[in-house]
Amino acid sequence: MPPTRLLIVEDEHLIAYDLRESLERLGYEIVAIADTGIDAVRQAEQLRPDLVLMDIRLPGEIDGIDASAQIQTQLHIPVVYLTANADQATLERVAASHPYGYVLKPFNDRILATTIEIALARHRAETAAEAAQQLTEAEMQRRAEHLAVVSHEIRTPLMAIRACADSLQRYGNLLPPDKQQQHLQQIQTAAESLSLLLEDILLLERMHSDHLEFFPAPIDVASFCEEQVEVWRYTSDHQCELAFFSDGAPCITRLDHKLLWHVVNNLLSNAVKYSPEGGCVSLTVSCQPDTIGLQVKDEGIGIPPESLLQLFEPFHRASNVGEIPGTGLGLAIAKRCIDLHGGQISVESTLGEGTVFTVQLNRSEG
Ligand code: ATP
Ligand code: MG
Repeated sequence: MPPTRLLIVEDEHLIAYDLRESLERLGYEIVAIADTGIDAVRQAEQLRPDLVLMDIRLPGEIDGIDASAQIQTQLHIPVVYLTANADQATLERVAASHPYGYVLKPFNDRILATTIEIALARHRAETAAEAAQQLTEAEMQRRAEHLAVVSHEIRTPLMAIRACADSLQRYGNLLPPDKQQQHLQQIQTAAESLSLLLEDILLLERMHSDHLEFFPAPIDVASFCEEQVEVWRYTSDHQCELAFFSDGAPCITRLDHKLLWHVVNNLLSNAVKYSPEGGCVSLTVSCQPDTIGLQVKDEGIGIPPESLLQLFEPFHRASNVGEIPGTGLGLAIAKRCIDLHGGQISVESTLGEGTVFTVQLNRSEG
């Protein structure tokens, strides 16, 4: 461990050198000796010592107590007074300046070292407590933001359910049959999106608490992916052209089917969602002896470069999503599922031109 760095503030040079010798003998490093209050503040600012040993009576505009106040409040460096002044008025000013310690001259080495160590320990504890407090505040702020996103994503389908149910209740059979069917379909779609959102939130919670189950079993990745593309062709309502590519041969390996479902579906869902109407989306499976590559490509809105690093963090959404709905959970879930398989995911994207997500998974046939 590097030695503790101290700044000595003492205007009597003989005392200062004597002090330096004692402290160096005790294993401390003396970064400088200042002889006025102003010099003390300046040196503390420049040299950032771990602690300042401060004489009270100093020549110049500010004395040791005023200099300590500046050093402790502005630079957050603990100060221990080292002085021969012990009159009542001085003691009251000293107490009001909340020092980390007070040693009366003439000092002895053991008392000096103990006072310094107690001051440093107290300062470390206070700094840690402050950092924890700031972390809690930042965490609370983050949670409030996440809650706002989730509430928004719940409110939209809930309003759709209310409006359709209300219309069916009021007008029922007066509505033409196709309108009734349309309302029922909208209720079903909204309920489905609510249940997917709930599933994502629970999944993320299980991931955070390390309770996500992982059950690899043999699967033909090529035909599994082809089926998912089929489902998306049907559900995306011809909004996108969906293509599937592979060399046509089965690609058997051991993967967790449920987790693979989340990976493929989140990537396809994004490719469709962030594409303009009529855009092309493709999923390519390349089966190698040791690895399997999945590539999902679209010609959609693209991802701004500043978002690429945070893309896999829960609740992160890029600035160009506009009104496109989403909670920012899909990729965080996909990434964690890929991590559990020991795989990798990467992304390449050009704003306004499109995005390619590439997943590499290890192949094991055992
Ligand atoms: P959901 O939780 O419903 O999936 P989401 O789609 O916003 O919501 P993610 O799938 O985690 O969340 O994606 C995070 C962000 O990454 C998106 O909000 C979007 O900004 C960006 N993104 C992901 N995939 C694409 C893509 N193919 N094209 C453009 N942007 C994308
Ligand atoms: Mg998504």
